[in-house]
Amino acid sequence: MEMDDNKRRRSMIIYVLIAFVIYVLLNTFLFPQMRSQTQVEQVLYSTFTTALEDKTVNAVTYTADSAPEARYTLKGESDKVYTTSVPNNDTEIWSLIRASGADTTVDIPNQSSSLWSYFLVTTLVPILIFMGIGWWLNRRLKKAMGDDGPSMNFGNGGFGGMGGGLGRSGARIVASKDVGVTFKDVAGQEEAKESMKEVVDFLENPKRYEEIGAKLPRGALLVGPPGTGKTLMAKAVAGEAGVPFFSISGSEFVEMFVGRGAAKVRDLFKQANEKAPCIVFIDEIDTIGKKRDGGGFSGNDEREQTLNQLLTEMDGFDNHKGIVVLAATNRPDSLDPALTRPGRFDRRIPVELPDLRGRQSILELHAQDVKTQPPLDLTAIARSTPGASGADLANIINEGALRAVRMGRARATQEDFEESVEVVIAGQQRKSTVLSDHEKQVVAYHEIGHALVAASQTETAPVTKITIVPRTSGALGYTMQVEQDEKFLTTRQEALNKLAVYCGGRAAEELIFNEMTTGASNDIEQATRLARNMVTRFGMSDEFGMVALGTVQNAYLNQDTTLTVAPGTAERVDEAVRQMMAEAHARALQILRENKFKLHELAHYLYKKETITGDEFMTLLKRENPLMGKGAEAAE
Ligand code: ADP
Ligand code: MG
Ligand code: ZN
Repeated sequence: MEMDDNKRRRSMIIYVLIAFVIYVLLNTFLFPQMRSQTQVEQVLYSTFTTALEDKTVNAVTYTADSAPEARYTLKGESDKVYTTSVPNNDTEIWSLIRASGADTTVDIPNQSSSLWSYFLVTTLVPILIFMGIGWWLNRRLKKAMGDDGPSMNFGNGGFGGMGGGLGRSGARIVASKDVGVTFKDVAGQEEAKESMKEVVDFLENPKRYEEIGAKLPRGALLVGPPGTGKTLMAKAVAGEAGVPFFSISGSEFVEMFVGRGAAKVRDLFKQANEKAPCIVFIDEIDTIGKKRDGGGFSGNDEREQTLNQLLTEMDGFDNHKGIVVLAATNRPDSLDPALTRPGRFDRRIPVELPDLRGRQSILELHAQDVKTQPPLDLTAIARSTPGASGADLANIINEGALRAVRMGRARATQEDFEESVEVVIAGQQRKSTVLSDHEKQVVAYHEIGHALVAASQTETAPVTKITIVPRTSGALGYTMQVEQDEKFLTTRQEALNKLAVYCGGRAAEELIFNEMTTGASNDIEQATRLARNMVTRFGMSDEFGMVALGTVQNAYLNQDTTLTVAPGTAERVDEAVRQMMAEAHARALQILRENKFKLHELAHYLYKKETITGDEFMTLLKRENPLMGKGAEAAE
């Protein structure tokens, strides 16, 4: 469907370009006299009168206009024309001209007609050309969607082919059978599905709800992080309900021409009214539904008008007809409150990141589409991907299949999928990056540093893989830790341990090589964010305790907080964060110092093998280091 849109847009641009070229050609070739004036020199009126007195003027053309003008040539200078404006009240000029003996022409222009022809050529003709093109395009679009009458253009089917026609409003209309998506295609997300089923039921039997006097929400807002299946869910509702489905993206309201947004909204709802019962789906509604703010640069009148129109329409339509407006956004907190008040998008359906079971069922669903080689353990994949969205998981399955093809196999194996988890997390392996021997050693110590600190503390996720194969993301190596079970809460101790694990890489470099490298930048960044959150949001610092010091800007896009404190307090926050980091760093150093022998041994092993599994790591760790247990105690 993207393709279709692009094509349409591209042809539109071509038409406009052609019109422009025609306009320019007309101007330059057909009406050259309008453009190219003879070489003239503007002179002062006094120059003109002096020339008349000197009798050097050859010929004068006097234009008796509302702003009189005289054009004249001088004797012996026939190719040059001078022009000057004559003051209206100067009646002397006639006697002067007569006395000079110059040939005189008086030109009394038929004002209106000359102006008219000029106006016609420079303004009206191009406007007509543009209007003609607009009319023609419009007709084509209308034809494409089979505008009037109940018959609709049922696109050419398929999920990607939300074909349908392009309505006047630009909304894609899709017959439900062509959506090709039903609730079966949405894995996990049981609660969201439950809410949506009610909507479907309403569209199927509106009578039942009417009889009891229940009012169904006019609009439901799907909120959740990107890639969790909001768009998918809306399509599934249409597929289930068997009613027409109008789909439009918020950004389509504000593109193209100024002032069209509101008209598009009006149009969309007019069409929906004709086709009711139906579903109107506005994707990415935050583009038009952002909070309207009073002051500031009000450069966004356009968006505001569109939003106002949407609000009006949502109040206006007759709910008994069975129009349900669905919208999706990943920035619910930036929506205008007017949109979310009762009677509009009053129902909020969270579509969250999938939990362990949800991830597993999404993986299973997508794995059905590819040929796989048993034994397959998708639970393990699900476990190693906390925080992954449905789109990520679909991508992991696809990357795995691609890898199988690359390796010349007919079926994707567990190993393919495991590798693709890493690809999605860290990027492709980059074999072309050649590290110097010393660098490779540093990276090995760095990664073992993380792993050792993790293994030496009790409340940390077990290490499952350590590698020093560079990745396209820029990582020179990484240590993968996977929680055994889904975690919903993190204790203060776990958070502190995590900080120490982040610090472990740098600490190992310092301990062994007595130097610092840039390799720890990402660790530092993540650790600092965690420490800052502990202080400002989780109430885990001694200094501030349970005080919220910041607000989360956007819960679904990132967890970044802005401090809402006095400047003095902000300084103390920084200090608390710094101290927390310093302590974590000291603890990591301490652990590594106590296990220096193991650090050497494991780092050498990793250096040689480049990738080791968590099991290998643990066997080596446990094998011949009786001091290990002591290290763990000392860490606390
Ligand atoms: P959103 O609109 O929330 O950003 P999409 O609905 O566009 O996300 O999802 C993108 C893709 O991710 C879908 O086309 C689908 O392949 C996959 N996906 C996401 N969530 C799920 C899910 N719950 N079940 C199956 N596939 C999913
Ligand atoms: Mg979407
Ligand atoms: Zn690191």
